[in-house]
Amino acid sequence: MIRQTWAEIDLQAIKKNIRAFRTHLPAEKEIMAVVKANGYGHGAVRVAQSALQAGASWLAVALLEEALELRDAGVQAPMLVLGYTPPEYASLAQEKRISLTAVDVEHLVELSTQVEPQLPALGFHFKVDTGMSRFGINTHGEIEQAVHLYQTRLRSSSHLLWEGLYTHLATADEEDTTYTQAQVLRFKRIQVFLKQQKVPIKYYHAANSAGTVREFDDLETNMVRVGISMYGLYPSEHMKTVFPFTLTPSFSLHTRLSQVKQLAPSTGVSYGKTYMTEKPEWVGVIPIGYADGYSRNLSNQAQVLIRGQKHPIIGRICMDSSVVRLHTRLPRSEIVTLIGRQQDQAITADDLAHILGTINYEIPCMIGERVPRVYK
Ligand SMILES: *Cc1c(COP(=O)(O)O)cnc(C)c1O
Repeated sequence: MIRQTWAEIDLQAIKKNIRAFRTHLPAEKEIMAVVKANGYGHGAVRVAQSALQAGASWLAVALLEEALELRDAGVQAPMLVLGYTPPEYASLAQEKRISLTAVDVEHLVELSTQVEPQLPALGFHFKVDTGMSRFGINTHGEIEQAVHLYQTRLRSSSHLLWEGLYTHLATADEEDTTYTQAQVLRFKRIQVFLKQQKVPIKYYHAANSAGTVREFDDLETNMVRVGISMYGLYPSEHMKTVFPFTLTPSFSLHTRLSQVKQLAPSTGVSYGKTYMTEKPEWVGVIPIGYADGYSRNLSNQAQVLIRGQKHPIIGRICMDSSVVRLHTRLPRSEIVTLIGRQQDQAITADDLAHILGTINYEIPCMIGERVPRVYK
């Protein structure tokens, strides 16, 4: 590695978080580890392998391409594509044993016309929209149509297997659970209807990380989809008070001082001289910038850790580099932590999310491919 900027991924932390979920959940509930978007920026393949070793049995991705990448890397576990897959790729999914989401009845019909009879059945999970208003069907009529399609065509066909029914919760991380309870109840009614109609479905799932650790009376599911908290982050501020176990963050971001020098008083720092020195000041140049996903909106806002102490980013963050104010002269190559711990100090994804007016989910995702992931 020539570059002196890297993200360190703590795979032991990922395993610890999955084990904590495993211990918390009843044995019959399976864990689907959500590794979309390159494992929330952590690296999908390594995260998937660690999650499976620690007790997850399924993987979820957003795109068929993401599932193919995992298969190509030799990951054998069952996998679900959560997003919409154009029906012409049904046979590719079959060939690779990747399950697809049917987002509505029309999509399911199209998938059924595209499956390859020679290949093993295409597994699908039918998505119901109980209040998120994203993918899925949202009327009872459509559920009846899906059941009708099953009874008239799919049941007797060996090309499509109705493997799961699922929904997604919009507010499971909020203190007020009223909306989630309503979603859960809608899901429950559909489950009851499918059972009455004798549609044998193996998996029912609804909970994301937040939903997984909360109790909902009507939620009778046998799989949970854990994303953000497998990576060691809480889904929201409120959830920090609700979580029954402590999470361990797995993502940290580091670089090294490339140059150290002293600036004279009244010297501007970086484009637009948005920071001016007041006195003689020591500064360090670090080789990370907005092209690495270290957002320009962190200019004059973010802090970094050096030798266990916080130091401010001064002036504008550039495409490939930024400037840090130092307390004193330090050697070149001194380690600088932009996200993570040093001694008793920490800069968290939540801290950066707060500055940027976003959520912690976005922070590891935004650190670009140019930053190598190093596994610990
Ligand atoms: C991303 C995603 C998840 C994981 O949610 P977290 O809040 O990260 O646990 C679960 N289900 C669906 C459908 C998703 O898109």
